[in-house]
Amino acid sequence: EPLRLDVVTIFPDYLRVLDLSLIGRAATDGLLDLHVHDLRDWTHDRHRTVDDTPIGGGAGMVMKPDVWGAALDDVLSSALPTGPMDAAAGADAASPAAEPIAARPNEPRRVLVIPTPSGDLFTQRTAEDLAGADQLVFACGRYEGIDARVAEHYAARGVEVHEASIGDYVLNGGEAAALVMIEAIARLRPGVLGNPESIVEESHTGVGLLEYPVYTRPVAWRGRDLAATQPVLLSGDHARIARHRRDQAIARTAERRPDLIARADPALLDVGDRVA
Ligand code: SAM
Repeated sequence: EPLRLDVVTIFPDYLRVLDLSLIGRAATDGLLDLHVHDLRDWTHDRHRTVDDTPIGGGAGMVMKPDVWGAALDDVLSSALPTGPMDAAAGADAASPAAEPIAARPNEPRRVLVIPTPSGDLFTQRTAEDLAGADQLVFACGRYEGIDARVAEHYAARGVEVHEASIGDYVLNGGEAAALVMIEAIARLRPGVLGNPESIVEESHTGVGLLEYPVYTRPVAWRGRDLAATQPVLLSGDHARIARHRRDQAIARTAERRPDLIARADPALLDVGDRVA
């Protein structure tokens, strides 16, 4: 079954880059089922208004919960055939619509992902977890973000809601964050990468170390000769090469990301066969 991806945004064109590269090919190959929606299609006024001033005052604009509610009701119910949401279709924006959308045991796993700088940090663990879902719906905010009741509402109805930040900085909108998350998730789906081996040893995967430095030919380049500096890589001895790379991964992680060393599983770190 393909991973169903829905992105709701006021800038659908922003997501067109998804047609390129590995992600585009995965969609063509039927591994991903990608749908991009224009939030303004769920507005009813002449100006197609999606935002309003903040209640309580302050700078900027906030995205309206009624427009987001109408959009997300449709997107969450239209995607998969047997959703209990079907019965609620047509409920007007002002209704309490407390009807649960809770997943039944054999129902597909749907996750509403709301990119926000105040969300949980999106990591490789998050990508691995979300790669196991059947449908991911990305609600891309703009301005000061989406009215906070939207996340609460869907969580209360049993939808798995994930407010996710891609890092400690502020972007103008959720689209770039959604692109980052989609790429990190999609490449973990079976068949998306040409060589599945390449994701086994990566940074932030498994033990949680950064990857060791990598090299290709020529062996000597601009005065940097691997035969002199890293002769073990040319030895053909795969066990020694593996130990050497593990040591380099540990040294690089200790220098650049000591926080990761602190969090790494000591049982996995202490391989016992390290070159002293
Ligand atoms: N006022 C919000 C705050 O201080 O938390 C910032 C809103 S930001 C200007 C507008 C939108 O960009 C957010 O709703 C979110 O969709 C997206 N965004 C900004 N930074 C992000 C980040 N680090 N991770 C994920 N999404 C982000």
